[in-house]
This record gives sequence, structure tokens and C-alpha cells, in this order.
Amino acid sequence: MTDLNENDYLLLTPGPLSTSPTVRAAMNRDWCTWDDDYNVGVVTPIREKLVQLATASRPDEYTCVLLQGSGTFSVESMIGSTIPPDGKLLVLANGAYGNRLAQIAARLNINHIVHDSGELAPPDLMRLGETLSDDPGITHVVVVHNETTTGMMNPLEDIASIVKSQDRVLLVDSMSAFGGVPLDVAELGVDYVVSSANKCIQGVPGFGFVIGRVAHMKQTKGWARSLSLDIHDQWQCMEHGRGKWRYTSPTHVVHAFYQALIELEEEGGVAARHARYTENQRRLVTGMERLGFRCVLPVKYHSPIITGFRSPEHPDYEFQRFYGLLKAQGFVIYPGKVTGIASFRIGSIGHVFPEDIDRLLIAIQASMYWE
Ligand SMILES: *Cc1c(COP(=O)(O)O)cnc(C)c1O
Repeated sequence: MTDLNENDYLLLTPGPLSTSPTVRAAMNRDWCTWDDDYNVGVVTPIREKLVQLATASRPDEYTCVLLQGSGTFSVESMIGSTIPPDGKLLVLANGAYGNRLAQIAARLNINHIVHDSGELAPPDLMRLGETLSDDPGITHVVVVHNETTTGMMNPLEDIASIVKSQDRVLLVDSMSAFGGVPLDVAELGVDYVVSSANKCIQGVPGFGFVIGRVAHMKQTKGWARSLSLDIHDQWQCMEHGRGKWRYTSPTHVVHAFYQALIELEEEGGVAARHARYTENQRRLVTGMERLGFRCVLPVKYHSPIITGFRSPEHPDYEFQRFYGLLKAQGFVIYPGKVTGIASFRIGSIGHVFPEDIDRLLIAIQASMYWE
């Protein structure tokens, strides 16, 4: 069970997440950014470990670039840096994070089309295949792995197999799944994947990372639509500078992340973490349904990451009041984000254990003031 101080609360949100005391303690000193202890001793092993997490089968074909900022900065850098000036992007959207991919493409003036399947349905695979056959101008496809809006796990394997059979570049926002859900980008044929420090690897917020296929990344020099978000430039600096970042790096956050990676290994790797998150989510759904709550999505679309629940239909129910009662008992939950359905969300990731979920369910039962 998570050990908390008196006024702390457990974050049951889509990020930032609850972290271990040892991850937080790893930040408790200052470091020089150009020193070898940092670049060679910490940044370089982080890059190597992240590639290993992305593909155990063919790590030599991929590289990893760390980038300052929240996760969206890395998503924007991936979209803005890996599509040539005359490229065309197909965005698969089924929620707020998918829509954000389209928003980024629009803001960067990237030629793109959007397949929006709505928040309650996965991407339309038939339509994807047909569109790629009909429009040879489409060079890239981008999709969210786990759509954190609803908690829907998108069918990445099927999407990748269609995109690869048509020989296009596949970009994946796996922000909320990477490190918590087993994945092998080389086997799937994913060209780029992005995530951040403060999701399933359980570090603190401050940077993100892009893992990309070296053979493709080599071609992208000069394509970036932004200086500070130029993945090729950042990559070259990290390669030739042996772990050096362009511009000030978040040293404390990077040290915390290194510790978080060690703790992921100690837990037993991604498979063990996935098992813990799955058990958290299973207990959560079973317990919530026993209390009379209903899930937003059918079970077949659930992920171990986050779950949406419909708001109670009682006229006295108010999210803010419910939230406040839970916070007073040490738990922070998240508002819903699905259009047209009053809901709230509870995350099952981070330094959170099945016993914490049991305690949460007791707190929820005690907070159902409308009953
Ligand atoms: C959390 C998240 C993001 C955005 O991350 P920020 O750190 O808030 O910028 C992007 N995509 C997905 C799927 C996410 O879950």
C-alpha cells in the first residue's frame, strides 16, 4: 500500500500520477548539465532503457530522444518533425487526445485528414484500409494508443498491420500506455512512439520522449516546423554530445525518472506492472458496479489505465461535492471528458496498489451522500 503523509492524497488521475517516496527523494540535490556523470551516467542509460522497453526484439533499429516539456510537447515534436513538407497525415481520432493530434497538424499547416469515429467507438479499420488504398498521397498515419478520454484501448496491432501493408509511416501517441502495457514497436511496425516521464513509468512531470526508427529519422533533417521541438536536432545533439540536451534539461526530473526506471525493473518489468494495473482496474470496476455505478464503455474496450463511470442520476449528486469528500479521505479522482455523458474518471496507474483500490472503494461508499 502507498505510504502517505498526513495531508497527501493519492492521485487516481491520468497524470501526473502518484510516485514512490524513493522517486521523489532522487531529486534532492543539484546537478551540472554538461558533466559526464549526468550525460553519460544518467541520460544515456535512460535513452537505452527506453528503447529496450519499446522493443525487446530489435532495439538496434530504434533510438530515443528526450525532450523538455509536458507530453504534448513531444507529440507536437513528433508530428512536426517527421512529416516532410509535401507529406500528408491521416489522423485517427476517438477522443480529446486524438482531436489534439489533428489540432497540432492544423496549427503546423500540415496537410491532413481526420477519421473521427466518435468517443465511444474504436477507429474504423475498414475505412482506414480503403482510405489508404484510395489516396496514395497519404504518407503518415497517427493514432492514440490508449485514448485517455474514455480509457479505450485502441486496436494498435490491427491498425499497424493495415498501415504497414500499405507501406505508410505510423506515429503513435502511447502517452498513457507506454511502460504499463506490453508493446514491441519493431514487431508491430510502429515507426515512432511518444510518451512522457509522468505516466506509466511513474516519474515526475517535466519531459517526454520520442522513440523512432533510425532509418526514418535519418531522413528527417530540416523537416521540423519548430526549433525547440526539432527531434532530429535534439537527436543529433544527444548522439554526438553523448547524452547532451539542447537547452537546459530538467536535471532533477531526469534523476527521478532514472530511479523510476530502476523501480520498474525491480517490480518485474512491464509485464508485472501491467498485471498490477490490470488488478487495480478489475477491483475498481467490480467494486464500483457493486456500489451501483455504471461504466461509460463496454468492458471489451476497457484498459488497465483509466475507467470512466457515469455520474449517478440522483438530482442531489454534484461532482465537486463528491470529489471534495474523497479528497478529504486521501483520494483525488478526475472529471469526465466524454461529450453528452455526465461522467467521472478514476485512474488505476501510478504508485497505486490493489489494497489502495480497496480503501478507495470504502471511501467512495462513505461519500455517497445522495443515497
Ligand atoms: C496525458 C496525455 C497526453 C498529454 O500529456 P501532457 O503531459 O498533459 O501534455 C497526450 N496524450 C495522451 C493519450 C495522454 O494520456
